[in-house]
Amino acid sequence: MATHHTKMLIIGSGPAGYSAAIYAARAMLEPIVVQGLQPGGQLTITTDVENYPGFRDVVQGPWLMEEMKAQAEHVGTRMIWDTIVSVDLENGPPFRAIGDSGDEYIGETLVICTGAQAKWLGAPGEMELGGKGVSACATCDGFFYRGKKVAVIGGGNTAVEEALYLTNHSDNVTLIHRRDSLRAEKILQERLFSNPKITVLWNKAVESFEAGDNGMLDHLALKDTVTGEDSTIAVDGAFVAIGHAPATELFKGKLPMDDSGYLLTEPGTPKTAIPGVFAAGDVTDHVYRQAVTAAGMGCMAALDGERYLAARAHAAAEPEVQVAE
Ligand SMILES: Cc1cc2nc3c(=O)[nH]c(=O)nc-3n(C[C@H](O)[C@H](O)[C@H](O)COP(=O)(O)OP(=O)(O)OC[C@H]3O[C@@H](n4cnc5c(N)ncnc54)[C@H](O)[C@@H]3O)c2cc1C
Repeated sequence: MATHHTKMLIIGSGPAGYSAAIYAARAMLEPIVVQGLQPGGQLTITTDVENYPGFRDVVQGPWLMEEMKAQAEHVGTRMIWDTIVSVDLENGPPFRAIGDSGDEYIGETLVICTGAQAKWLGAPGEMELGGKGVSACATCDGFFYRGKKVAVIGGGNTAVEEALYLTNHSDNVTLIHRRDSLRAEKILQERLFSNPKITVLWNKAVESFEAGDNGMLDHLALKDTVTGEDSTIAVDGAFVAIGHAPATELFKGKLPMDDSGYLLTEPGTPKTAIPGVFAAGDVTDHVYRQAVTAAGMGCMAALDGERYLAARAHAAAEPEVQVAE
């Protein structure tokens, strides 16, 4: 078991964590990134990424994250494959974290980039057809279904927003909900019901995601939640929109969070309620949830961390004011 010291400890290795690391390393903060169970973050479970700036052609999510990692390492970041299981923020700085390996991490500043995970239905075929017709992000993947038939599964704000967004690309959007009314805000429901491109299928649960001969999603098997009747619906794309879970269990009772568990920061900044502790990316953002926004927040966190350390060093070096007798 080892103890690792750094000026900036970064928890999480998605776009937010790697971007924070690139900025921190270039500011000579010798950052450590603790990568967690999903090195590279959410983009490693998708295929085509077409909206990350800098690439004219579609790039593959895992490749993009390998490049970010390589860039962060190239400028001097230490990557450690471990998962943080507890943190001590009360007695810092420095802030202490313990890894699943038993190793201890001590950071003068801490940047939390633990992200969020889309919630999935857990139905057969859902994972196998991820990136082959099944998605959890209309903003990310809707463009690939231009002129095609798509379904959105869910009944809350996210589902309705995803369905409305998809009408930019498709004239044939079906919202599938297991109940006979939606949880989404009334104003969103009004927009949904008045949109001629959207049909709502009530009282239907998705039993499985089925592939066609080409290995891509072909149809959904449905069960009526009232009558028990089985049916199918042919679709080219299915968007599971039943919410996201931010990875913030570690910080419960230690940092302020909203009702859904997203970390709260000072508006427009990555600063949490504890000076020297920052949060960036999907762990604090339930609105945009994009790789580029996460990367932007990671950059902001590293810059603010650097300024925080500089201000502390300056205060420590300040000579005490001599008061004349
Ligand atoms: C299927 C899919 C397709 C997508 N497509 C696109 C797209 O085309 N374009 C786009 O812009 N966005 C897309 N997104 C969204 C994008 O992936 C996220 O917005 C982005 O990855 C968020 O980055 P992040 O750094 O905040 O966190 P994440 O990518 O969620 O990474 C979180 C990191 O934290 C680590 N971690 C968690 N807990 C711990 C712990 N206790 N200790 C250590 N590490 C921990 C994880 O291992 C992981 O490395 C897609 C998402 C999904 C799911």
